[in-house]
Amino acid sequence: CGIVGYVGAQSALDVVIAGLKRLEYRGYDSAGVAVLADGGLAAVKKAGKLVNLEKELVGHPLPSGSTGLGHTRWATHGGPTDANAHPHLDNAGRVAVVHNGIIENFAALRAELAERGHRLESETDTEVVAHLLAEQFSATGDLAEAMRQVCRRLEGAFTLVAVHADEPDVVVGARRNSPLVVGVGEGENFLASDVAAFIAHTRSAIELGQDQVVELRREGVTVTNFDGTAATVRAYHVDWDASA
Ligand code: GLU
Repeated sequence: CGIVGYVGAQSALDVVIAGLKRLEYRGYDSAGVAVLADGGLAAVKKAGKLVNLEKELVGHPLPSGSTGLGHTRWATHGGPTDANAHPHLDNAGRVAVVHNGIIENFAALRAELAERGHRLESETDTEVVAHLLAEQFSATGDLAEAMRQVCRRLEGAFTLVAVHADEPDVVVGARRNSPLVVGVGEGENFLASDVAAFIAHTRSAIELGQDQVVELRREGVTVTNFDGTAATVRAYHVDWDASA
């Protein structure tokens, strides 16, 4: 339902939680965050409101890192449980992904992954994406390329945001039939399903087009189409009153 991604110099966790709060008005049933730190990936997710997640984070604090993502879920496939909350990770715990929308062909992809030895731990349509990204990342060493390859296999509507522990300064996003906006900062960049999530930090935005992938680094943003060609994007200034 709500998605936030961040790479920069601030605490990713603080930026992501504040962003998710700005998206709370949309309604949701679970929430989760993941941060890259010390060469690894750490995630916490919880059914219920953001306050539940924040309580959980007090008991299980995440290491501090400046690359991360977060999600508020409105369940479509699988009940609103801790296990079904996003982010979803691969079995090695190196990739984390959050998703808005529905992956229509998830059942076939789950069966295929299970046959290749993957252990799926949730009832969601989303989890297949974490496993597919892990496979493609092993083959390419490039999360944006992995995302393009995976997206070409997906049917349905999706906004996806992912991180991989082996590319600690990168956040990747993708969209089809579901919104995703980049917030362009100074030495930091944001991704969100709605500009409200990053308006406190920047009003410089780029709207992703249909079937596009974005690679976010501290110093810049690269947008490509699912087929790998350079994409045309719309940059704009957000001028509405954020307090409204
Ligand atoms: N279909 C996904 C799920 O049920 C994503 C739902 C959403 O958009 O929050 O987990």
